[in-house]
Amino acid sequence: MSDQLIRILAGDGSVRATAAETTVLVEELRRRQQTDPTATVALGRLATGAALMGSLLKGAQRLALTVEGNGPLQRLQAEAGADGAVRAMLKHPVAGLPPANGRFDVAGAIGRAGFLRVTKNLGLKEPYEGRIQLVTSEIGDDLATYFTTSEQTPSSVGLGVELGHQFQVVAAGGFLIQLLPGAPDELAARLEDAIRQTPPATTLLKQGLSPEHLLDRLFSAIPYRVLERTPVRFACRCSRDQTGRVLELLGRQDLEALLAEQPEGIDVTCEFCRERYHFAPSELAEIRARLTT
Ligand code: ZN
Repeated sequence: MSDQLIRILAGDGSVRATAAETTVLVEELRRRQQTDPTATVALGRLATGAALMGSLLKGAQRLALTVEGNGPLQRLQAEAGADGAVRAMLKHPVAGLPPANGRFDVAGAIGRAGFLRVTKNLGLKEPYEGRIQLVTSEIGDDLATYFTTSEQTPSSVGLGVELGHQFQVVAAGGFLIQLLPGAPDELAARLEDAIRQTPPATTLLKQGLSPEHLLDRLFSAIPYRVLERTPVRFACRCSRDQTGRVLELLGRQDLEALLAEQPEGIDVTCEFCRERYHFAPSELAEIRARLTT
């Protein structure tokens, strides 16, 4: 099944929810970032969380989730837009940790101490930024805490990535459920029960069920209506032009030094998609000529 997300409104508009399948996306992240199994699960959860949150944006708005911890992965980042385009990267792709209690040790790979930062570009003058200390470093709980404390929106977040024998991604996805102002306590309690009783997203996805089925289980006793369905896909925003501008930022002196060191030209790799852009000496000379300092 191809990756997609579905967004619904329930309980007379007092509950909103999004569920997503991100299997293809997370496998692509694994391939591009060359992650080891624990790193795949960590990055996949963050990218799935970004996709779910992206569904709440409009138009050209974008958001970025950054997790920085004292574990081996150091820093992870995922970006998403309202259009379902997601990209993600991590500083160090190898966690090198054995599974703990039969599970991939995501919290160990990220580190217990650190923070989660949410940056939203909403088309306003300044981007919005919210930041919390990591709570469990499992990502889902951390995102839920962010919503509850920074956005005052009680939320439940479930994120899952399941790997196969070759550590390839066999299922990835999750859900985000948010109580809006005026949501009755009784409805919140019913949802809590439903979340407890519903198998993990990856279990359902592996059976060939869709994100819609997942919401159907979670909202089996609560009427809802579907607001939209959006395909989710990997898409990078880098370009040769933009990469050239990064080289400009080096300044004249550093650029000259770099060129002296590598007379055959310079390769710049995009940290998100790992695409390599080659700049020949003549192009670097052009960039240098544009610089005044
Ligand atoms: Zn790129």
